[in-house]
Amino acid sequence: MARRRYRRKKLSLTSIILSIILLLIIIAGYYVYNTYFKEEEPFIEAKGDISFHFVMLGNEYAGDCVYVKAGENDILIDAGSNTSSIDDIENYLNKYVTDDKLEYVIVTHAHEDHIAGFAEENGSLFDLFEVGVIIDFPKTESTSKLYSTYQAERSAEVSLGAKHYNALDCYNNINGGQRIFNLSDDGNIKLEILYNYFYDHDASTENNYSVCVQFHHGPRKFIFTGDLEEKGEEYLVDYNDLSKVELYKAGHHGSSTSSCEKFMSAIKPNISVAQCCAGSVEYSDDIKKGTFPTQSYIDAIAPYTEKVYVPITIDIVQVEGQDTPSDTSDDKYDNKGNYQLLNGNIVVISEESGVMVECSNNATLLKDTAWFKNYRTLPNDWKVA
Ligand SMILES: [Zn+2]
Repeated sequence: MARRRYRRKKLSLTSIILSIILLLIIIAGYYVYNTYFKEEEPFIEAKGDISFHFVMLGNEYAGDCVYVKAGENDILIDAGSNTSSIDDIENYLNKYVTDDKLEYVIVTHAHEDHIAGFAEENGSLFDLFEVGVIIDFPKTESTSKLYSTYQAERSAEVSLGAKHYNALDCYNNINGGQRIFNLSDDGNIKLEILYNYFYDHDASTENNYSVCVQFHHGPRKFIFTGDLEEKGEEYLVDYNDLSKVELYKAGHHGSSTSSCEKFMSAIKPNISVAQCCAGSVEYSDDIKKGTFPTQSYIDAIAPYTEKVYVPITIDIVQVEGQDTPSDTSDDKYDNKGNYQLLNGNIVVISEESGVMVECSNNATLLKDTAWFKNYRTLPNDWKVA
């Protein structure tokens, strides 16, 4: 009996040792998997004096959302593409915004693909982040439910202490608004609110009411015009002292309505990002001519730069020789994640030594992608890599 008890005791000691060994193997395996095999989205350090992040929005719809980090200042320009993008935007911002506060929010115009992230009751970015200053558009003809929700969410944020100015008051330095916001102690980094003629004149399209801004880093300029269209761009050149920019966010997602010659020759962009899903049939079934980024945008920018970047493309473009999607039913296009990466999240970094571009997927120029080769014509100024 004593011997049996002894054997039982010995067995349980062996099983404890075996359990410990097994546990160690599991821990080691987990470590090896996490270190060498687990694919995580690359984190691009917000280094540099100022960086501009074109954020992927979790679906294949066109929408603007640019996060700008300038020292301690966290700035958001727009929050498209629809309310389902809020989680993706929040997750991205949380990697960089350490104090849950956005010092500035700029909302360019009342379309869904720009305001949606600010227009969710009890869950908008205004609910998720404290905001210092909100700058938005003086004019709109929108009567949408989404716009009313945006107004209510904005009011709630103002009641919590945010300052709210429209871009015209900023331009005129009245009612508390400022034309220039200093973003660094040495005055080297600034946000400038530009004058858009349609801040105080009627436009035939909501897009022309867009707030237009320019960041300065020393002599370098970075311009953002929302969805401003040709007429607005021409006035922008007439009424502002524009000159060469390092970065131009492609107006209206690279649509043919924007990036007119007069504007391009004034700003001569060095880098351009079209915040859209290449080839998505959201606004046109004509993949060759109608979808973003359009041939007309490409031709307009080509004399100045070949550094054009686009975050994603729809998977249909991988089908050689197929011009139109086989299934454009709403079901297919409502599915989250129905896209493939081109550049992924695109970050333009400006530091003392220069301006560089880092991307979460790869930094292939648009002209060298399979999508471009299938669906666009190489302008004379561009050469294949
Ligand atoms: Zn838009």
